[in-house]
Amino acid sequence: MNASYEHEYLCPHCSHINVIEIETEKDMYREKYIACPRCGVKLEIVPAEGIEDRINLVVTVAYTDAASR
Ligand SMILES: [Zn+2]
Repeated sequence: MNASYEHEYLCPHCSHINVIEIETEKDMYREKYIACPRCGVKLEIVPAEGIEDRINLVVTVAYTDAASR
């Protein structure tokens, strides 16, 4: 299967529910960088294998600009 699926994830910064399109196998364990449309924080999203062939999204806030430190 190489179809793409939409997955919901929660922004860890503002708890806004976002949707990301994941192409299974091709996108597995490759990080994506997306800005949350609500709060604008940069997010790093890594699709990982979850239980029962479900994709488990690991979402963390990506601190890329030094201004926040
Ligand atoms: Zn957010």
